[in-house]
Amino acid sequence: MTARSRVNNTCVYAPAMNSKLRILLAVVSGLTGLGALYLIQAPDQLAYSQALELGAVTLLLAATLVSIAWDALRKPDEPAGTPAGTQLLSPEAMTPPGVLTSDDQTIVQTEVAKLLLLLRQHADANENFSVALDRAKENLHESLKAEQVRIIISYLMIENEKMKARTANLQANLENSQRQIERLKTNLATAEAQGVSDPLTGLKNRRGFDVILSAQVAASRSGNQPLSLILADIDHFKAINDRYGHPAGDDVLRWFSRILSSNVKGRDTVARYGGEEFAVILPATPLENALKVAAHIKAQLEQQVWQKPGAPNTLLRVTASFGVAQLNEGEGTSGLVTRADSKLYEAKTGGRNRVAA
Ligand code: GH3
Ligand code: MG
Ligand code: MG
Repeated sequence: MTARSRVNNTCVYAPAMNSKLRILLAVVSGLTGLGALYLIQAPDQLAYSQALELGAVTLLLAATLVSIAWDALRKPDEPAGTPAGTQLLSPEAMTPPGVLTSDDQTIVQTEVAKLLLLLRQHADANENFSVALDRAKENLHESLKAEQVRIIISYLMIENEKMKARTANLQANLENSQRQIERLKTNLATAEAQGVSDPLTGLKNRRGFDVILSAQVAASRSGNQPLSLILADIDHFKAINDRYGHPAGDDVLRWFSRILSSNVKGRDTVARYGGEEFAVILPATPLENALKVAAHIKAQLEQQVWQKPGAPNTLLRVTASFGVAQLNEGEGTSGLVTRADSKLYEAKTGGRNRVAA
């Protein structure tokens, strides 16, 4: 074991000592060191081998003295085991749950940078620990006295404690970062789902419809596949609201959305286009098949009756009008929607409860 490594050892103990003990240790180290120096300087009083041992002890004492002085000069509030340059994010610093702030991206980047730094520091600490073990191994080869073996073991225990503290610190930081990232992921997923969903029916809202239609138009072009669109509008819905009340109207909207969803395939998208108007995007579907889908939905509506919640005797037949169009070559989303809408208008003016294409 070298004098330098002994200096490192004492540095670890020093922060835990109180100041009186430090002063006492410093005084004892100084006095004993001076006594040892005096004895080494007097060859007639000591054998050569004893003088060598005394020299080693003096070095140890000097290291202790330096260590205590160094520790006294060090900043008192520097937390042991916290890698320099890292900051733990306190729970107070976190944004409230359920709110996705504009800083979230920055938080993720900071967390990732912090993790990389911690991992690098941990790897360095591991490297230092194996160096310490190697040093101890080298020294153990020599024939040592019990006291020297005790010093080596103490040294290893100190290094081990340091490693344990670093590992615990790393683990706490990793868990904290993981919690933050999980929270951000949940917030993001919730915000995304809320942003494209209609809260009343659970269908895609107008924004979701726009996003999906754009994607489907692009897929239709690149895959050279037909794409059709149905726009459906409940007939005389205002009269339903007026007669049964707005909450009952809401229930009709939910009921209508269930009928639409249960009569299309999984690859199709049903959306609430706005008010009492709905849309069905039909990928890989030519116009004639889209017409059949619309006719089928219309027939389903004719067969079923809406029942007012809490009023089993209040039953109502609800009808709707449908406009259908297939994407033309070179046409965009707005062109397709405009044509389906004009067909819907045709169905309305033609007498309602009908499909126009
Ligand atoms: P048409 O057959 O020509 O489609 O007539 P309509 O009465 O269905 O159409 P109109 O555009 O005259 O009225 C639509 C009504 O839908 C008016 C509006 O108050 C109602 N409405 C829109 N959104 C909601 C909603 O979320 N809930 C309820 N209950 N009513 C809604
Ligand atoms: Mg209507
Ligand atoms: Mg309408």
